[in-house]
Amino acid sequence: MSDLVERRGQAMLAAVEQGLTGAEQPVAGLLDLDGIRETARELHAAFATEGVEVQHTFAVKAAALVPVLRVLGEEGIGAEVASPGELAIARAAGVPAARIVLDSPAKTHGELQEALALGIALNADNPKELARLDKLVRPGSPPASPLGLRVNPQVGGGSIGATSTATATSKFGFALRDEGAEDWVVQAYLDRPWLTRLHTHTGSQGVPLELMATGVRAAYELAERINAAAGRQQVTTIDIGGGLPVNYDSDDFRPAYRDYADVLRAAVPGLFSGRYGLVTEFGRSLLAKSGVILARVEYAKSAGGRPIAVTHAGVQVATRTVLVPDVWPLRVLALDPKGRPKDGPPVVQDVAGPCCFAGDLVARGRELPLLEEGDWVALLDTGAYAFSTHYGYNSLPRPGIYGFQVDGSGAVRFSVVRRPQTLAELVAESGG
Ligand SMILES: *Cc1c(COP(=O)(O)O)cnc(C)c1O
Repeated sequence: MSDLVERRGQAMLAAVEQGLTGAEQPVAGLLDLDGIRETARELHAAFATEGVEVQHTFAVKAAALVPVLRVLGEEGIGAEVASPGELAIARAAGVPAARIVLDSPAKTHGELQEALALGIALNADNPKELARLDKLVRPGSPPASPLGLRVNPQVGGGSIGATSTATATSKFGFALRDEGAEDWVVQAYLDRPWLTRLHTHTGSQGVPLELMATGVRAAYELAERINAAAGRQQVTTIDIGGGLPVNYDSDDFRPAYRDYADVLRAAVPGLFSGRYGLVTEFGRSLLAKSGVILARVEYAKSAGGRPIAVTHAGVQVATRTVLVPDVWPLRVLALDPKGRPKDGPPVVQDVAGPCCFAGDLVARGRELPLLEEGDWVALLDTGAYAFSTHYGYNSLPRPGIYGFQVDGSGAVRFSVVRRPQTLAELVAESGG
């Protein structure tokens, strides 16, 4: 990870020097393209098992950016999509249909038809959706799309309610522990020989690895039960979802993919027996550590004895951090006007965004070298769930996102991942 820290430092310096960000573009996102590739390779290495076919997909909602999906695609990683927009982005990135999985609790009739026509795998969320599929799948001719059902093993939540998807009353999937539910699922599979997958996703951030593994074990045991009842290997593939938590406290990649794979190997050895193919859908952990938001300090002021740096990164780019600060704290670095780490004794201060509401703070009472006009702040670990979850407050435009690569001599080369949104585009999408 130290390479990642060094590259990040070089990139921030170069972004300022090369004018990607400055007085007129006071906020930008930077993405370490080699960091993304390294993370993808760690994922492959952690799950690689002789005789087991593993298809890793990236949960597109974590960074719905075509060039990111292209880079991941070059590393053999497909796309997990949950809306027509995400599917269109994955297709624009050239992700082949065989590497796309459609999960969503609200697929329309048209989306189901399109996925089937394209041969894209999909996981039905509930019995009503299975009933819709019954009408679309022709008896006697198996669909090109691998089809499955998402089950909620109801193993409980993690430390963050909003990202825990396997609680007793979660809106996602078919609740497996409700009265008679498991028998219903077994019969549903026996009635539909074309159902060949089982899907579960226990949550996203805040869910302990052991709890995630318990959810996966429930799906595995159900697959075994279905296959025994069918007298054949009807369920061929288990989709274990994503959810590896990211450590937002330091630059350590902890837990690592290997840690989770080890927990799974211990808790569900049969998953790696070779009798099942695996699909994964990691989002946050694939991108978070490779991204940083760089924002200029426009003014430094003081109120009630508290220094406040007013920057250009607020709720529009760090939405969860600003709206639910206790749950989603971010590390903030103080940089000087050239983008170098700023020296100075720690001073308790607030780091504010540009938006017109008092809560628009990305850090409260944080000890940092005293920020001044023209300095920069860097919001770390923002590669996931920041660049594509823009919040349109105050009509602030979506900032530019730039991929970077650092060569052996330390020279930084940038490529445009997403252009900064122009004011004309903003006006147009506002009904102008
Ligand atoms: C959000 C989501 C993921 C990705 O979760 P991460 O925490 O970003 O890894 C995977 N699968 C499903 C179904 C999801 O909803």
